[in-house]
Amino acid sequence: MNSQNQFPRNFSFEFFPPKSPEGAEKLRATRDELRKLNPSFFSVTFGAGGSTQQGTLDTVVEIQKAGLNAAPHLSCIGSTKENIRALLQKYKENGIRRIVALRGDMPSGMREAGEFGHANELVSFIRAETARHFHIEVAAYPEFHPQATTATKDLQNFKRKVDAGADSAITQYFYNLDAYSRFVDDCEHLGINIPIVPGIMPITNYHQLARFSDACGAEIPRWLRKRLEAFGDDLNSLRDFGADVVTHLCEQLLAAGAPGLHFYTMNQAGPTTGIWRSLNAR
Ligand code: FAD
Repeated sequence: MNSQNQFPRNFSFEFFPPKSPEGAEKLRATRDELRKLNPSFFSVTFGAGGSTQQGTLDTVVEIQKAGLNAAPHLSCIGSTKENIRALLQKYKENGIRRIVALRGDMPSGMREAGEFGHANELVSFIRAETARHFHIEVAAYPEFHPQATTATKDLQNFKRKVDAGADSAITQYFYNLDAYSRFVDDCEHLGINIPIVPGIMPITNYHQLARFSDACGAEIPRWLRKRLEAFGDDLNSLRDFGADVVTHLCEQLLAAGAPGLHFYTMNQAGPTTGIWRSLNAR
């Protein structure tokens, strides 16, 4: 993990585009709460197959207008070069300087393959079209991507994105510190020299977390699963326990040299703020 120490620490928060006027109002309140923590940027997810394209654009523009740095996620699967080019132009016009470049997942029922195969092609395309205008973030998987045929190939594929011009990476969330440490060490051996910021998922709802984790290949270790299950309907105790576990993980990550933290906020300020305050207090 030594190589990660050289990078300045970046703290960032992730939102998804709201689906209703009430959701948009709630997100403004969340943003105003979280801006007090002085993050480097707020990122906004992009729906599979471009399903939230307009929502992502509207949300990042609003964040920028509030005087903050916004980073749209941009997934390329099923998309054309023309469509991505037009979106990049809109982001440039709105003062956006950072993009999270992803392959994404094809929504079920959608057949259009599009002009991009993997995220490394999107990174190359963004660089070819806009030179160094954007800081490009890519996704990293310390517990490996669910479709990866082998861990070695997944690492090599991660390197392709870095070689294509990625500036930094944000990881899928994880609760196994060793997975991250070893991933970072392997990257160092492959000559990858960019910040790899751990993605942090606060624990607030066991069933939702279990569903997400099964889908994205993030492991909830058995001891943690068993403890979370045991809280049953006692959500307050589950949240207190979850906050303690995640704060401890963040503490260990920063102590080991992680170059910041990226919080999957789920559009809620409370869980992230709670972890942040406990981290500072410790
Ligand atoms: P890639 O880097 O292309 O990798 C996908 C798979 O293909 C991996 O198994 C990899 O090993 C393999 N691979 C990569 N390159 C090659 C190659 N050249 N040849 C052969 N195999 C290759 N999803 C959304 O829909 N919207 C979002 O906003 C979103 N935000 C995310 C943010 C973060 C930080 C993370 C970690 C994930 C996010 N995702 C999002 C999920 C992501 O879209 C999925 O995990 C998707 O399945 C892979 O995207 P990727 O960019 O990692 O793909």
